[in-house]
Amino acid sequence: MARVTKPVCRVCRRNAEKLYLKGRRCESDKCPLDPRKQRKGMTQAKTSEYGMQMREKNKVKVYYGVLEKQFRRYFAMAKKTRGVTGEILLRFLECRLDNVLYRLHWASSRRMARQAIGHGHVFVNGKRVNRPSYQTRIGDEISIGEGTKYVEIAKQMKELGSTPVPAWLEASETELKAKIVRYPLRDEVSIPVDEHLIINFYSK
Ligand code: SF4
Repeated sequence: MARVTKPVCRVCRRNAEKLYLKGRRCESDKCPLDPRKQRKGMTQAKTSEYGMQMREKNKVKVYYGVLEKQFRRYFAMAKKTRGVTGEILLRFLECRLDNVLYRLHWASSRRMARQAIGHGHVFVNGKRVNRPSYQTRIGDEISIGEGTKYVEIAKQMKELGSTPVPAWLEASETELKAKIVRYPLRDEVSIPVDEHLIINFYSK
């Protein structure tokens, strides 16, 4: 399984914003962008329009843990789908199985979610799925395989979850079961991104 391996904190630093790519560590004072560590006058370097487009695209790629080839594929799929291309692109990325696990707080980061899926702990509609990029659809039921080693970890992660589960996911209070009830709306996608810059980047 190909994966993003570059140091992710560098992406946050370059964008001068916290993208929460390392789970709980991002909320601790170990984060290099922790406000307590910020020096006065730290600003983002000036970049050309092309540079800004490229940076925005790279930010989304790292945020979702997607490589260039896959990302281009998502863009091509979004272009072919009826609707606003930028919003559809983000919808495809949000509906990846690894992201769904992360949004449900069954993993503290998308990286951790990818590992759980790769190890065969995650089921969709009762079938084991070991592809983190699996595209979930409305009506899909997601669960953690009973008796797998991941059950206890997912329960702990769920208890630690500090933000509400988005409304497009319906999660059981007591079990590790959830359902996709609709697709996410643009304002439910929390990444700080201007998707128009990405569209312009690929439209050249
Ligand atoms: Fe690193 Fe997370 Fe801080 Fe980003 S938010 S710089 S990924 S620790």
